[in-house]
Formats: sequence, C-alpha cells, structure tokens
Amino acid sequence: MATDPKRRAAGTCTQCGSVFAVRRSDDAVEPIGVRRCSCGNSSFDVLESEPIDPYATDG
Ligand SMILES: [Zn+2]
Repeated sequence: MATDPKRRAAGTCTQCGSVFAVRRSDDAVEPIGVRRCSCGNSSFDVLESEPIDPYATDG
C-alpha cells in the first residue's frame, strides 16, 4: 500500500524531543525522510493525529 498522507503526523524523538514528520503504522511511529533522529534514537511519539498544519497556532 502506498504511503497514506492521512497517516502523517507530527512526532517527537523520545530521547531529545526533536520534532519530525512521522508516519503512523499499525503499532509503530516511523519518521518520514529519515531513518532515525540525529541523536541516534529511532523511537518517536506522536504529537498530533492530524496532518501537519503550518498554520496551526494553538496557544
Ligand atoms: Zn533525538
């Protein structure tokens, strides 16, 4: 199945907190465009379940 843009989300590295665009799969969160964070970590937490919106200014 091709990459579903609806599965894109914002995520953070669980180690250093860097923000990435991530893709949600069944039970995993994978960064888009990179294999792992620049800090070497490859675990990410999802910040939002909606596509990244550069105009979102919540707060
Ligand atoms: Zn990191």
